[in-house]
Amino acid sequence: MSTVSNGKYVKTAAEQNRLDRVITRYRKLIEEADSPHEWAFAWRTEINRGGFRTVDFLMQTIVDAGKCIGCASCVTICPVDVFDYEDEQPIDTRTGACVQCVLCADVCPVLRPADNDLPDQLGFRQPKKDEGYGSYSYGHYVRATEPGILSRAQDGGMVSALLIHGMETGTLGGAVLGDVVPGNRQIGQPRLATDRDSVLACAGSRYTYSPNLIALQQAVRENVSPLAVVGVPCQVDGTRLQQHSSIRLELANWYRKNISLVIGLYCSEAFTHESINQLATMIDVDPLSIENINIKGKVIVRLDSSETHSVSLAKYREFARPACLYCLDYGAENADIAAGGIGLDGWTYTLIRTERGHRAFQAALADGWLETRPLDDEPRGEMLMNKLSAQKKINRPLPAQMPTLAERQALNYLDPKTFYTKGPGAPSEES
Ligand SMILES: Cc1cc2nc3c(=O)[nH]c(=O)nc-3n(C[C@H](O)[C@H](O)[C@H](O)COP(=O)(O)OP(=O)(O)OC[C@H]3O[C@@H](n4cnc5c(N)ncnc54)[C@H](O)[C@@H]3O)c2cc1C
Ligand code: SF4
Ligand code: SF4
Repeated sequence: MSTVSNGKYVKTAAEQNRLDRVITRYRKLIEEADSPHEWAFAWRTEINRGGFRTVDFLMQTIVDAGKCIGCASCVTICPVDVFDYEDEQPIDTRTGACVQCVLCADVCPVLRPADNDLPDQLGFRQPKKDEGYGSYSYGHYVRATEPGILSRAQDGGMVSALLIHGMETGTLGGAVLGDVVPGNRQIGQPRLATDRDSVLACAGSRYTYSPNLIALQQAVRENVSPLAVVGVPCQVDGTRLQQHSSIRLELANWYRKNISLVIGLYCSEAFTHESINQLATMIDVDPLSIENINIKGKVIVRLDSSETHSVSLAKYREFARPACLYCLDYGAENADIAAGGIGLDGWTYTLIRTERGHRAFQAALADGWLETRPLDDEPRGEMLMNKLSAQKKINRPLPAQMPTLAERQALNYLDPKTFYTKGPGAPSEES
C-alpha cells in the first residue's frame, strides 16, 4: 500500500512500474508519432486508466532529466501547493497533497507544445503578418516620454511606461514582474507590483533568470486584477498554458479571467548566477559594483561610478544557462506585446501582436506617455529580429526530442546557443 512520509507520497512498486511503462510509451511516441500532440496527450490517456501520477511523470521526464527551464508554471498552477521552487527548478515537496488534477504537466512548455487553437484564443490583431518571429500586427521603436521612467529603464522604458499608465488610469490593478534581491542588483526575484514606485523598482533587465511567475501566487491570494505579466518567452508560454488549459479548474479559470496583458521580452538566453562573478573578474571589478548589464552585440557593463566596460559576448556566452537549449522562442511569440533592445539605442523595439496589446499600447500613446519612431529608421533592428529568431529555431527539434542534461554533459557540450549549429546537434556534412 502507498504511504505518505514527510508530506511526500511514497509509490508502491506497482505504481513505479506503471510510471515506467507510461514513460517508455511516451519516449516511443516521441520517436515514432507524426504529430507532437500525440505524445503530448499520451500520458493523459494513461491517467484515465489510473495507477500513475502526473506529478511523478513531470518530475522524471522534465526536471530530473535536467530539461526544466524554470518557468515555475507547474508551481503556480498547482491548486494544493505541492511544489517549492529553488535554484530555478520546482521541487515536489508535498506530493502527498496531490489531487491528481494533471495541471502541472498540462502547463509545462517543455513537456508539450501549445494546443493548435492557442492563436485563436490569443486574438492576434488583423491584419497580421508573420516573418518568422510570430504573428504581429505592427511595430515601432518606442520610448517613454517621462524622463523619470526613461532613466530607470533598460532600453526605451516602453514596458514600465505601459504598466504605470495602466495602473494610473485603472486598466491594470497590478503586474507580475522581476525585481532584484536585496544586496545584489543582478539577481532577480519575483514581485507583484501595484503602483508606480514598485514598477520603477523593477525597471531594467537582469540577465540572470528571474522566476517572475511565482508572483502569480500572491496576485491570486490578494485577488489583484486586471493583471499584467512581464516575462521572457518561456514565462509567456507558461502563462498562456496556464490561462488556456483545457482542464477548467479554478486556478486556470482565474488566470484566464484576470490576466489582461502579457508583455514578453525578447530572449536569446539567460545566464547563470555564476556569470556575474565571472564577468566582474573579466573586467576586474567588484561584482556588487555592477549597476547594469546590457547586451548589444557585446556585453556593456555600467558600474555605480558610471564607468562602462565592454566584454565580448562570445566569451560571456560560456555562462549561458544550459536549460535555455530547450527553448525555441526569441520574440515572445505568444505575448500581447513583445519588446527588446535591438536596433535604435535608447528605444524599445516593440511589436504589437494582439487586440489586447493594441488597446493597451494605443491608450498609452494617446495619453502622451509614449513616443514612436518607424522601424525603418534603423533597419538593423529588423535584420537582428530575423537573425536572432532564426538562430533559436535552426535545426532544433522540440524540447521533448532533445537530449537530457546528462546526455549533453557526456558529450561535453552544454552551450545552448551553438548545440544545433556547430555542436553535436548540427547536421553532419553528408546530410
Ligand atoms: C534574461 C533577458 C534576456 C534578454 N535578451 C534580449 C535579447 O536577446 N535581445 C533583445 O533585444 N532584448 C532582450 N531582452 C529584453 C531587454 O533587455 C529589455 O527588457 C526590453 O528591451 C524592454 O526594455 P524597456 O526599457 O522597455 O523595459 P523596462 O521598462 O526597463 O522594463 C523591463 C522589465 O523587465 C523585467 N525584467 C527584468 N529582468 C528580468 C528577468 N531576468 N526576467 C524576467 N523579467 C525581467 C522587469 O520586471 C521590468 O518590468 C532580454 C531581457 C531579459 C530579462
Ligand atoms: S519547465 Fe516550467 S512547468 Fe516545466 S517543470 Fe520546469 S518549472 Fe515546471
Ligand atoms: S532562452 Fe528561453 S528558456 Fe532561456 S530564459 Fe530565455 S525564454 Fe527562458
